[in-house]
Amino acid sequence: MKAEVDAAKCQGHARCWEICPEVFMLDEEGFGSVQTPEVPPALEAKAGEAADNCPERAIVLS
Ligand code: SF4
Repeated sequence: MKAEVDAAKCQGHARCWEICPEVFMLDEEGFGSVQTPEVPPALEAKAGEAADNCPERAIVLS
């Protein structure tokens, strides 16, 4: 699974990082980004939970 954050949609709620810090991180302004673009199978459920909880639907998993 691949993970991306759509920077045009992200509003910096930080939910992604709170739920799955192994995959997501925050930049210096508090916007979400991806630190593990190739999500290992063991983290797919957590990454999916983060995507489901992103209020802006800014997380793209493929
Ligand atoms: S939860 Fe969504 S809106 Fe918030 S920082 Fe993460 S990607 Fe951005």
